[in-house]
Amino acid sequence: MKKTKLVLVLISLVLILSIFPKPTTAQTNVNCGKNNDIQKILDEITETSVAKWIRDLSGENPVVIDGEQYTITTRYTSELFNPANQNAKAYPYLTQELIKLGFVPGVTLHDHDYSFKSYAPKNLDRTIPDPEPIEIEAVGAKNLVLTIPGHGPNAHEQVLMTAHLDSTSNKPQTEAPGAEDNASGVSALMEAARLFRYYKFDRTIKIIFFTGEEQGLYGSYAYTEDFRHESDNMLGVVNLDMFGYDADRDYCMELHVGTMPESNVVGNCFTSVNNNYNLGVKVEYLTNEAIDRSDHYHFWRIGVGAVEILENYDYHSASYGCNGVRDRNPHYHRTTDLIQNMFIPATHRITQAGVGTVASMAGMMGKCFEGNPRLKATAQEDSIKLSWNAMQGADTYRIYRGTRTCAGEMEVLADVTGTSYIDYEIEYDTTYFYQIQAIETDGICFSEVLNCATAKVPKPEEPPVYDYRIFLPVSIKAE
Ligand SMILES: [Zn+2]
Repeated sequence: MKKTKLVLVLISLVLILSIFPKPTTAQTNVNCGKNNDIQKILDEITETSVAKWIRDLSGENPVVIDGEQYTITTRYTSELFNPANQNAKAYPYLTQELIKLGFVPGVTLHDHDYSFKSYAPKNLDRTIPDPEPIEIEAVGAKNLVLTIPGHGPNAHEQVLMTAHLDSTSNKPQTEAPGAEDNASGVSALMEAARLFRYYKFDRTIKIIFFTGEEQGLYGSYAYTEDFRHESDNMLGVVNLDMFGYDADRDYCMELHVGTMPESNVVGNCFTSVNNNYNLGVKVEYLTNEAIDRSDHYHFWRIGVGAVEILENYDYHSASYGCNGVRDRNPHYHRTTDLIQNMFIPATHRITQAGVGTVASMAGMMGKCFEGNPRLKATAQEDSIKLSWNAMQGADTYRIYRGTRTCAGEMEVLADVTGTSYIDYEIEYDTTYFYQIQAIETDGICFSEVLNCATAKVPKPEEPPVYDYRIFLPVSIKAE
């Protein structure tokens, strides 16, 4: 073969090979710059909305599960899965709240079952003696996993947002409010679920509520073992565990990044989001000094980039940004870990930074639907006819109904595939309020519920009632 021929062959080989896409490493296209849709999401997260979840989970507010009222006084793992304990219903509570948001059990919402046995609980604070090991039977425990499937070319990649749901204290079985540790993290996950459902993301988002953390990271251990085969597709993990105690109100926190380059991608995204959206959090970026005592550790163990978001827990050199001081929650693992001892403005801003990081890493693709369906309600003789315009990409329309206002609690009336519905279940002279929501297949993407239509069916005129007795012939008598 001549030299020129060989060169030609080589050139054509290079050309042919260049047609095939190179296997890209997952972190190539992460953009954590400012995005208007992410800004809208962050604007919807308020101190009030964040505090509501913390109050519900730490026993400040009663919660309603299956129509019954309960107070969650502990989230200690063995009690979470003890059906006899009426005061530890955080798991069914969160499941039901996620279903109310539109997520579907078995489709977007899954229990990840695992089992754990007796253990010696461990403290993050090594100055507190670790509690005595508690001997309990091996019990079935669960992590709650919410999947928001990606809509883009990188849908096979996952961005994980994690927090442990369980709590502990000096009276773990009965009184472990765990407002900061870790209702703060769970609240951030619920805010993400509440707001992400209106948007499309390139990548798949997994929102995971771990249990068994306080006993030795059991839930995250089980998860990373059972889903290790997906680890190549895990782009990064944002773990939120215990933030929002801030006695000196300096908005300083610790970001435990560690030394893996993959974790650095997540850590850099977090600091970019904090700067680009002017969130005003002061971040100590910890690499060699990062701690491994939360659920992020098991992702490091399987080679997945992860960061842990924590209060200003320990002393670090002043050059890190928190002036060399520490601001540690003295109520840690005690019955006094209550919302009143937190500084919610700090919890709020850190929540925004965490949610913004996940949204950025997942790749924002805009709203699920362009606009919202316009609903019309028309009173008919014995019913109310509802009709609306078809929305591109919607295959279900969820109709909500109430009898007071559109702003209050509305009940789901029906899921409909067409563009009209007749409501026969009405009472005369009652004003009904209707709303409608467009939904993409299996409840993975939703339109916002902003419309409102009302109608009332008046009571029909009664036909005249004749008193036939007055026409009875006088001759007929009762025998
Ligand atoms: Zn914790």
